[in-house]
Amino acid sequence: MIISVDNLRKSYGEFEAVKGISFQVKQGEIFGLLGPNGAGKSTTLEIMETLRSKTSGHVTIGGYDLDKHPDEIKKIIGVQLQTSGFYPGLKLLELIELFAGLYNRDIEPMTLLKKVNLEDKAKSIYKSLSGGQKQRFSIATTLINDPKIVFLDEPTTGLDPQARRNLWDLILDIRSQGTTVIITTHYMDEAEVLCDRVAIMDAGLIVSLDQPEKLIDELLASGFEKQKGTKGANLEDVFIQLTGHALRQGS
Ligand code: ADP
Repeated sequence: MIISVDNLRKSYGEFEAVKGISFQVKQGEIFGLLGPNGAGKSTTLEIMETLRSKTSGHVTIGGYDLDKHPDEIKKIIGVQLQTSGFYPGLKLLELIELFAGLYNRDIEPMTLLKKVNLEDKAKSIYKSLSGGQKQRFSIATTLINDPKIVFLDEPTTGLDPQARRNLWDLILDIRSQGTTVIITTHYMDEAEVLCDRVAIMDAGLIVSLDQPEKLIDELLASGFEKQKGTKGANLEDVFIQLTGHALRQGS
């Protein structure tokens, strides 16, 4: 297990946002943290990322105890920063060089930009990018230190369907290199496509944890039926069929 979380709790003053959750993440899987706003996903994520303190519980990341070796953990993880954290007037190449310097890593910026399909934007300034390009760039920055684990917090929010699918391919590609991915999302179709397993959180607790397929089968086995007759396609399928999978100028 590359991540182990045992009885994790987090209180903000009197309010307990995370109420004793336990889960493990296997090496090389894409693990989804799902749940409505306020469920405690970001709190849990930021504790694992060493960015927020916990109230109690035990966490190990890559074999390192979070309490004892947070600096070792920082070296083996990639954290997606909120995109507003980038200097808007710097070129992508300059930004990558800046981050590589911060991580003390000697990397080839163009190779990294190629990985996220942004090599033709190398000399563009950050603020000129589209939403999808900004997200791809922020994922590139998580890969600078060649991490074992990448944390992605709602990476596709606000993107058009083409850009979203392109980002799914990128995330699957990162996993295929052996990297473990922890992702939060509000899109259940996305979780179904990407995640090997999902933990569904609500009000500070994990209410279910399994493979998406198994959770769906369990629901059906309990006698659940869709209210409307289900069709074999949805509006997003129509949209993609009509407008294609290809990335657009600006996606
Ligand atoms: P999610 O990511 O699932 O939306 P969060 O972890 O952001 O959930 O928040 C869980 C709960 O903790 C929410 O009720 C939120 O208002 C509260 N919370 C988050 N951060 C703080 C904070 N710094 N101070 C006080 N309450 C907070």
